[in-house]
Amino acid sequence: MLKGLILPLIVSSLIAAVGSLDLSLSRKIGGRGIAFYMATTFLAIILGIILAVSIQPGKNSETGEAEEKDTEPTTVQDTLLDLVRTMFPPNLIQATLQRFRTQLTLPEGEFPNSTLPLEEYDMNDKWEEGTNIMGLVVFSIALGIALAGMGPRGKPLLAVFQSLSEATMVLTTWVIWISPVGVMFLIAAEILRIEDFATVIKSLGLYFGTVLAGLAIHGLIVLPGIFFLLTRKIPFRYTGNMMPAIVMAFGSGSSTATLPITMKCLEESNGVDPRVSRFLLPIGATINMDGTALYEAVAAIFIAQLVGISLPIGKIIAISVTATAASIGAAGIPQAGLVTMVMVLNTVGLPGEYISYIVPIDWLLDRFRTAINVLGDSYGAGIINHMCREELQKMPPISLEEGKEL
Ligand code: ASP
Repeated sequence: MLKGLILPLIVSSLIAAVGSLDLSLSRKIGGRGIAFYMATTFLAIILGIILAVSIQPGKNSETGEAEEKDTEPTTVQDTLLDLVRTMFPPNLIQATLQRFRTQLTLPEGEFPNSTLPLEEYDMNDKWEEGTNIMGLVVFSIALGIALAGMGPRGKPLLAVFQSLSEATMVLTTWVIWISPVGVMFLIAAEILRIEDFATVIKSLGLYFGTVLAGLAIHGLIVLPGIFFLLTRKIPFRYTGNMMPAIVMAFGSGSSTATLPITMKCLEESNGVDPRVSRFLLPIGATINMDGTALYEAVAAIFIAQLVGISLPIGKIIAISVTATAASIGAAGIPQAGLVTMVMVLNTVGLPGEYISYIVPIDWLLDRFRTAINVLGDSYGAGIINHMCREELQKMPPISLEEGKEL
């Protein structure tokens, strides 16, 4: 149900938010937001690298021998060009019906120490019907800017989107009522996998722990610390207020599906101006993934340590750059980061098949990293809201109430 709300929500909230700000203020909010998102992504990667290099999860784990194979590498150019292509869909209707490559499932009996060619994975599991969120985000921002620039002639359409945005939030409230049941079933389905958990954790425990430690430091110290430094507000309450969104992110493994709840918590419990949250959150859910970035860096170093490939500083830098691109390129859907991981591996000279080392534990790690992705988006919106509060106060929001000017 939440997924069903994404399309009207993203389009209407972005158009209404951008359309009701003047260009210089939306430039400021957008520019600062993206700068914050990039900076925290980079911090997450550095944290991941420091942890993976010092804990050395790959040196202390036992897995089967793997040989290097020649495969077609997925390059940074591929991923970045793909990103640009998705930003400008030739057909908007089609953009709402995209197919994404998602999780890779190991064939039965192959668990967990093998490296298999990608073709041997269950191809049925590799695709998910979805929406080209990036394309819709770019289009909606452009339309919002156009409407803002049109003055009174843009107001009627702007009012339509404003109203649609509010109606979608009402629908979100209804879905939130039943979300505890939804989350329970989402998690219950996964508990069936716990059987294999003991085997998996034996070989991958240290890797799992390293990623988890990194996510915890980032979510409990780095992000709240930056929030406190920049706003002088106590961050615990802020995180506490985001709990429904964090739980949903953990349950669904998708920051996009969690978007309606994230918006609601930010606006109603943390008092973020809807013009900021509705502008920045859809962008954040698409490009800002601190948890994914951190995981990509740790996983690449873990696999390199495991197969005994040395990582000089040049390769570490390459990992940070590609992990950034991989986190931006990953869609906000379950286990999308595992697919963009192939690119990071290729950068350090490892074939993409080696992701099979980390596949068995990825379903669970995905949930933790998604929760941090959502928290990162939320802190970003809160900080930018604080930074732009004076300009926002000077510009009253569009009111749809009778008798007031649109
Ligand atoms: N599941 C993550 C998200 O939706 C993306 C990933 O890291 O796989 O934010």
